[in-house]
Amino acid sequence: MPYEFIESPHRTIAASREISIVVIHTMEIGERDGAAKACAAWFASPVSEVSAHYCVDADTTIQCVREADIAWHARGGNANSIGIELAGYAGQLAREWNDAYSQAVLERAAAVTAEVCARYRIPVRRLRADGLVAERRGVTGHSDVSVAFHKSDHWDPGPAFPWKGFLRRARAGNSVERAR
Ligand SMILES: [Zn+2]
Repeated sequence: MPYEFIESPHRTIAASREISIVVIHTMEIGERDGAAKACAAWFASPVSEVSAHYCVDADTTIQCVREADIAWHARGGNANSIGIELAGYAGQLAREWNDAYSQAVLERAAAVTAEVCARYRIPVRRLRADGLVAERRGVTGHSDVSVAFHKSDHWDPGPAFPWKGFLRRARAGNSVERAR
């Protein structure tokens, strides 16, 4: 991978695993320079007991867990997923997702999502809780994993997360990927 790697010790080494979903999160770290690094540092710290595969802010993407390994980001949905953390808050309003910083985060995160989906042949479509329970393949939110498996009350990336635009960008990235 071309991304900087800051390893988190909070992971489960998997002998082999099927990757069928991408889980989108917000870091609950504000929109600022160094947000991805701050999130990666938290995942690397011995006390956090959490991790995700990727941390994305407006100008940086950092990988924290190898895709072959299970990151600890969404209880009930970790074993078969890739977790991506976006700078910002679940409580952001639509207009806050629309500011320049968030737009840059969404662009970078969509590129990572596109790459991951292309690599594992995951359709770039929104999966809600019922789709997760039915073991379909796709892109989902931490909130959907919480509703599907009742192991967490996390509600990120939040009700105003711009799913339509995000998936459109990821699909565009995906077709570029396929055309190569
Ligand atoms: Zn989350």
